[in-house]
Amino acid sequence: MTASQISSERIWQALSAVPDPEIPVVSITDMGMVRDVQVDGERVTVTFTPTFSGCPALHVIKGSIGEAVRGLGVQEVEVKSTLTPPWTTDWMNADARERLRQYGIAPPAPAGEQLITLEAEPTRCPRCGSLNVRMTASFGSTLCKRLYVCDSCKEPFEGFKSV
Ligand SMILES: [Zn+2]
Repeated sequence: MTASQISSERIWQALSAVPDPEIPVVSITDMGMVRDVQVDGERVTVTFTPTFSGCPALHVIKGSIGEAVRGLGVQEVEVKSTLTPPWTTDWMNADARERLRQYGIAPPAPAGEQLITLEAEPTRCPRCGSLNVRMTASFGSTLCKRLYVCDSCKEPFEGFKSV
């Protein structure tokens, strides 16, 4: 099998099975990280935008993308990352938001809503749904998340940083 025999749809399909290294319940395509797939003769170029430039997982994502495409039998794979335009939480699909919530991470508020209301992002406790939450640290286990505690059920939880 050579790259020219593989459709970009097949590549997108393979990429949709690549988990986000930070949050394994969502894939990199659910997160809207994959920006472009180019098939040029025998060469496949995948362009992606990392969710947060501070995330240490950049090289992990690059490696996983390369592996997924090579798994289709493609020999030449180039994986490029781009920060322009920067990733926004609006690129996440509805599925990803729901899975984040089930995983116990408060999904980010859509950026558009914040612009209209000019309020701090409404963060809900993923366990009881209460809005009565407090941020306890700007950074959770990674730069991408924040730590909160819910004043209703007293449970700490991680929230996804809205960007
Ligand atoms: Zn709660």
